[in-house]
Amino acid sequence: MLRVSNPATGAVIKEIAQDSAEAIADRYQQARAAQRDWAAMPAKKRIDCIQRFRALTADRLEQLAQTLTAEVGKPIKQSRNELSGLFGRIDFFCENVERATKAEAITTSGDTHEWISHEPLGVIANISAWNYPYYVGGNVFLPALLTGNSVLYKPSEYATLTGMAIGAMLHLAGVPSEVFQVVCGAVGGEVVKQPVDGVFFTGSYRTGKRIAEATAGRMLKLQLELGGKDPSYICDDVEISHAATSLADGAFYNTGQSCCSVERIYVHKRIYNKFVDAFLAEVHAFKIGVPTDEETYIGPLTRRQQLDILDHQVADAKAKGATLRCGGERLPGAGNYFAPTVFTEVTHAMELMREESFGPIIGIQKVSHDEEAVALMNDTEYGLTAGVYSSNQDRAQAILQQMRTGSVYWNCCDRVSPRLPWSGVSHSGVGLTLGMEGIRTFCRPKAWHLRAR
Ligand code: NAD
Repeated sequence: MLRVSNPATGAVIKEIAQDSAEAIADRYQQARAAQRDWAAMPAKKRIDCIQRFRALTADRLEQLAQTLTAEVGKPIKQSRNELSGLFGRIDFFCENVERATKAEAITTSGDTHEWISHEPLGVIANISAWNYPYYVGGNVFLPALLTGNSVLYKPSEYATLTGMAIGAMLHLAGVPSEVFQVVCGAVGGEVVKQPVDGVFFTGSYRTGKRIAEATAGRMLKLQLELGGKDPSYICDDVEISHAATSLADGAFYNTGQSCCSVERIYVHKRIYNKFVDAFLAEVHAFKIGVPTDEETYIGPLTRRQQLDILDHQVADAKAKGATLRCGGERLPGAGNYFAPTVFTEVTHAMELMREESFGPIIGIQKVSHDEEAVALMNDTEYGLTAGVYSSNQDRAQAILQQMRTGSVYWNCCDRVSPRLPWSGVSHSGVGLTLGMEGIRTFCRPKAWHLRAR
């Protein structure tokens, strides 16, 4: 039995039967049998289904936002934002899927004509995280369905009610129930065992590595969208108040539980003290509370175990000489609350500056020049995003050019666009979603060599 509980109170909301190994194998068989007809449909019909899904999501937005808030503890305004943000992604995919997958005639003269077509992979497994279930799930299952694949969708066990709601709406919108299968529970290992054509995973590096090991030798398409330890550097020529507001939001939005949350801040020594003061003022202004309150900005952590990681990072940072500027402890009560925490005088000897925190905690480090900032920003096993705040675009670009990350930001952070590929380097993963490449990734290119005789 899977217990869905409310992270703000610890109360059990619902108990759901986990899918057995036999049920998962059966769902896979159904998905395989149905895929060919789904792929053979005109693309416009698949687009119509996803547009009906969009309309259903819009009609039920408030109810879906309440469900998301109840099971993951996301502050209600941020749950609504996530749902609204999904629409831009749906629109991008629907507007571009035909163009992205159109067959191309590469040479049309001479003896041999050469074409490329884009064929659906077949049946894919989509194993997903809880922190933005509509985004990280939608980045996979929407283009996968639009390009003619069947999907075994396993939402995180911490976002099961949302995953089930997504499944119900897709089916109501016309996607056959055999083509989109929701698998419930902590059963990702069983899903990965099925002879699928692709595994598209979003989650931690630790689980990603396990999946890579479990699928080694299978010759399937493997995409792993993993964690980050994303840095931002504040140059000495910035408007300090803008940088402080933007970065406090980038570090603490979704209670710090975004893959691209800012997790390390480096500040030029000339403005360090002023920046730290401005940043702390922003953090002190955050409203901590129950996630159903309209004013709440910081809610509970979704997973109770994450509190142990934060406790450990706090103790380690203190032991190694960091200065605690605010927070640093759990809040009393049954919910998974941790006070927004800021450390200064941090170093890379501390876990806080090396391991993903995935919570409302940040370290701020002073640097002497841009070269030192570049070296520190790249001193990580992760590589999801990196940002620079500066009034000088050339200076910012020269720094961003040196970042080993999938995305870079100038004067912004914690941002994902449906029009741009989303990917990571090193422990942040392999493969990509979003952008035109994030549609084609659910297809394999087929090369045609054609001679009339
Ligand atoms: P997680 O790795 O704990 O779990 C992710 C999913 O994997 C869940 O559905 C879980 O049931 C499943 N799973 C667990 N063990 C498995 C196994 N052995 N085989 C197959 N599946 C298994 O991650 P999480 O806590 O759900 O998500 C948080 C992590 O996800 C963070 O590290 C975050 O940075 C990352 N993330 C990355 C992106 C991105 O786009 N790069 C986006 C969102 C979240």
